Amino acid sequence: MIDRPVALVSGSSRGIGRGIALTLGRNGYAIGVNYFRSSEAASAVVAEIEASGGQAIAVRGDVGLAADRVGLVQQVWEHFGRLDVLVNNAGITSQGRRDLLEATEESWDLVFDTNLKGPFFLAQLAARRMIEAIEAGRIPQGWIINVSSISAYAVSTNRADYCMAKAAMQMMTWLLATRLAEHRILVYEVCPGVIESDMTAPVREKYDQLISEGLTPIRRWGTPEDVARAVLALTRDAFPFSTGDRINVDGGFHIRRL
Ligand code: NAP
Repeated sequence: MIDRPVALVSGSSRGIGRGIALTLGRNGYAIGVNYFRSSEAASAVVAEIEASGGQAIAVRGDVGLAADRVGLVQQVWEHFGRLDVLVNNAGITSQGRRDLLEATEESWDLVFDTNLKGPFFLAQLAARRMIEAIEAGRIPQGWIINVSSISAYAVSTNRADYCMAKAAMQMMTWLLATRLAEHRILVYEVCPGVIESDMTAPVREKYDQLISEGLTPIRRWGTPEDVARAVLALTRDAFPFSTGDRINVDGGFHIRRL
């Protein structure tokens, strides 16, 4: 077993997950860099972590598939011998961004499998490993961090499935936080706003305009590093008597204004 704590970050080949993996990797964590399709990008993240003096492995797996989830946790466990943090970051947007009157079951199934079923059952698998290690005295505690979205409460009628899956993530966070507290595992929801990534690249101009008109009190795009810094703070044990909380990383988007 390695002596540094280990974090598995789902969907960390690109975007927000990549930012989280790099930040945790530079700050003492060994990282399981999960990817699905972007193998080269995942290898580049591993190389960047290693170049900064850290440790990482790339682990392929579709979080929407049960066998892949088992494989992910197993590979990280076998390679590093422990698991301290799971970041449920992997996610996709609504397929085709169709108006809800045209929404398809295909998109629903894919979005719910990837964005909700995957994170829930990955958390279940990770929690079992964490509990085993905590009870054996091999790690002091665990963290599960779920990356949701402002879409959990802000309606987009062309992404109904995405919004509903993200809304359910808050209840998932409360459920896990309640059940796992006795095992010394803290659970949080990190709720990003409009963040620069491949996911938002197709709607870049729309959000440039909205931000310049005051969509967010802090008038800029968020970055993967903004989200990563919040995750790092949570996993540094800065909030030992808090669990189940939603941490907004959104430039103040959530504040109702008149
Ligand atoms: P992104 O740039 O599209 O990157 C998505 C990442 O998830 C990639 O690394 C991708 O891996 C991985 N992924 C996709 N499907 C997967 C699957 N089935 N199994 C495993 N990995 C999978 O997206 P992002 O903007 O960084 O979003 C990351 C998370 O933040 C998502 O949960 C998203 O809903 C949330 N979020 C984003 C924003 C935003 O403004 N960007 C705002 C709020 C919340 P491969 O390329 O290897 O397939």
